[in-house]
Amino acid sequence: MRCFARSSVAFLVLVACGPSPQPISPGTATAVQPAPATPPAPAPDPTAPVLRLPAVARPVRYAVELVIDPTIEEFSGTITTELEITAPMAALWLDGKELTIDEATFVVGSERIAARAIYGGKEFVGLVPPRTLSPGKATLIARYRGKMHRNSGDGIYTAQEANEWYAFTQFESTDARRAFPCFDEPSYKVPWQVTIHTRKSLVALSNTPVESEQDEPNGMKVVRFGETRPLPSYLVAFAVGPFDALDAGKTRAGAPIRIVVPHGRGKDAAYAAQATRPLIDLLEDYFGTPYPYDKLDMLAVSVFNAGAMENAGLITWRQELILVKPEELTLDRQKAYATTAAHELAHQWFGDYVTLAWWDDTWLNESFASWMASKVVEQWKPDWEIPVGRVRSKAGVMSSDSLDSARTIRQPIESANDITNAFDGITYQKGEAVLTMLERTIGPDVFQRGVRDYLAKHAWRNATYDDFVGAMSGAAGKDLHPLFDSFVLQSGVPLVSFALACDKGKPPTLTLEQQRYAPTGSKIDPKRTWRVPVCVRWKAGAAAGRDCTVVEAPTATLALSAPSCPAWVMPNEGGLGYYRMRPQGDMLAHLLANASKVLTLPERVALIGDVNALVASGDVKKGVALDLVETLAKDRSRYIVDASIGVVGSIDEVVPAKLRPNYERFVRKLYQARAHELGWQARKGEDDNTQQLRRSLLPLVASVGRDAELIKQATGLAWKWLDAHGAVAPEIARAVLSVASRNGDQKLFDRLHAEARKTGDREDRERFLGAMGRFIEPAMVAQALALVLTDEFELREALGLLQGAFGEPRTRELGFAFIKEHFDEITNKLPEAYRPFMAFTFVSLCDDSRKPEIEAFFTPKIAKIEGGPRVMKQALELLSLCSAQRKAEAPGVEAFLKRQ
Ligand SMILES: [Zn+2]
Repeated sequence: MRCFARSSVAFLVLVACGPSPQPISPGTATAVQPAPATPPAPAPDPTAPVLRLPAVARPVRYAVELVIDPTIEEFSGTITTELEITAPMAALWLDGKELTIDEATFVVGSERIAARAIYGGKEFVGLVPPRTLSPGKATLIARYRGKMHRNSGDGIYTAQEANEWYAFTQFESTDARRAFPCFDEPSYKVPWQVTIHTRKSLVALSNTPVESEQDEPNGMKVVRFGETRPLPSYLVAFAVGPFDALDAGKTRAGAPIRIVVPHGRGKDAAYAAQATRPLIDLLEDYFGTPYPYDKLDMLAVSVFNAGAMENAGLITWRQELILVKPEELTLDRQKAYATTAAHELAHQWFGDYVTLAWWDDTWLNESFASWMASKVVEQWKPDWEIPVGRVRSKAGVMSSDSLDSARTIRQPIESANDITNAFDGITYQKGEAVLTMLERTIGPDVFQRGVRDYLAKHAWRNATYDDFVGAMSGAAGKDLHPLFDSFVLQSGVPLVSFALACDKGKPPTLTLEQQRYAPTGSKIDPKRTWRVPVCVRWKAGAAAGRDCTVVEAPTATLALSAPSCPAWVMPNEGGLGYYRMRPQGDMLAHLLANASKVLTLPERVALIGDVNALVASGDVKKGVALDLVETLAKDRSRYIVDASIGVVGSIDEVVPAKLRPNYERFVRKLYQARAHELGWQARKGEDDNTQQLRRSLLPLVASVGRDAELIKQATGLAWKWLDAHGAVAPEIARAVLSVASRNGDQKLFDRLHAEARKTGDREDRERFLGAMGRFIEPAMVAQALALVLTDEFELREALGLLQGAFGEPRTRELGFAFIKEHFDEITNKLPEAYRPFMAFTFVSLCDDSRKPEIEAFFTPKIAKIEGGPRVMKQALELLSLCSAQRKAEAPGVEAFLKRQ
């Protein structure tokens, strides 16, 4: 047991007592040093490390004792670290950020050696003993203080919910160092024992079950948690606040599952409580090993920079994902919970049980968790159309992978910027797509065996890329490095051309050619090759079949098993291959003519996506894509209609003013009748497809098609919704609000503003603020932007006020001028993780001639932001590509619209 006392300076200071080794003052330590005859000149302070800690010592286990009061902005703590000193140690450098070390002592055997604390830049704390310590065992006891920033979303931070204060943690990637001076690198994976002193009325949570809880004086208590399994610092977590907990069952091995929510929100966690256990069962079945920890809490966090975080046994969540009012539990919300839950739960094996050795392997965590999540959710809910989701997410990341500045999935880490950058679409979506493709190539059973071998071999420890590919190769009985290396260590999207030849006396044969896909205006060198696994589907007379190969050279041939010349060939079966297809000759025409009858839904979505990509690279004329739209727009599936809307919307900003009426007419011709038939209001018993169609079609016809009737209805409904949310179905509420505010007046703006101030519900507040950002009238745009600078709303919730201006040509310049005028103010208000993305604010200008002005202003500012330089490079490249493509597409668009 430890005791504590409240200091007069508004934070709690921990005073150690009882059986633990007593920290001693520096004065005591000098007594055990032989006194030199003449004092030597003081040695210069050791130099702080850069990025990584020097390998002179490693932790064996930690015990952390913290005093956390969420109403105060500082905390205090003592960390006891058992060490293995591996080389003569003049100073122990640890990661530590915004920490003040009050006292530090090394205990070596029975000797206590006081250490002096020095601070190396923003990230490091050095503890310097009076003499060099020899290799061997030692214990470090450090007493320190740190900051809990309100709403920061990193380190230990506090947030308010319905007038009550909570404390949360978020340590990934490098913020555990804000909570403890420690070895904040993932390869230091050791047991942690956490103890928290807090107010008696609050609940404290951490990675493990509570071991003991005892009252202390002054209305406080001490909560001691069981020692964890080995964990890297970034997976340690705790929270303090007046939480409520919902029982969500137990895992097969009996680990209790709970949904933990802010006080009074239990009724909004019913879906989470019912959906979690089935996902754990499916994961256990796949991995062949039980959920690895003693308990699982799913914790709704008030302010969170990401979606959720896989802390072992204590998964933290952006509360909007886990708390859903029963009347707003749409299918979308169910999917969002289940997919995120499956991802974070998969991490309990991939990331927590077996941990990456360093951040260059972030993909071993994130690509796998994403791939696994799609897999188990598809198994759990086969009717949720997960395969279409896969193709769409792949299409999205292929665009960013088509940039010259694209990262590789596994990327060397040379600076803190690289760690931040590693959490992007390349790691998540490309990683998932590549694993999906390779799983099919290797065979699902072999792949599963490889995964199981990998987990068994590295259980509770760290692993690397080579460890994973080694396990896969072992399972497959052949070296799979060439296949994995080709996609994991190389950036870019393969563009594979397919030419069909049906020569007499020979089997029908495809000639395949690969190069790197490059959009118009890109500086990419297309000469790059992969080992591309390709599977094609075909139909020849009554026969249908498939053939697969791995294209290893720039050119290859694939003899088809078809008995005669196929009527059509789908060059990417299931849309699962990570490549763009370029069918030659009349192959594309045949495919498009038959698509709705012969292709699966994911294949059709993949094909439309690739046609658009071929338009962007100049291989196919824009008119071909626009001609397609007429058929696609009539399709039953909302995914196909969405794809058609994507094509129609892509020309919005290319349309010359004189042809704007033609464009509006074209939109009305395609979609108006169907939009009116659907109407804004849902009918009883409608399926998900119809609801989603409404959400896509009505805002388009109202806003782009300038349909006065739909605008009027939306405005009326928005006012009704403001009075009572039940007046509009939850699926369509955002769309109604967006159309109403695009066409809204000051009265509506003021009402939204008043509601945003009044509500205690974060999600509603985001909806109100998002709508306020969509007004067109300059006076109201200015009012919305001005609010960004005030403290009236937390900026993460109020980003809609800013973003709306950039999405609309009529307000874009106002938004851009505002960013330039207030760049520093806005950036400083944003959480660090968001700051690099300030670079994206100029991309929508889509005008290369503005580059000098943009670079002069943004480059020096973005350079100072962690993770900024790469984002800046990408943003500049996107600006140029957008500009080049608009120029290239303009004549085709004009010719097409003249006919409308
Ligand atoms: Zn993840």
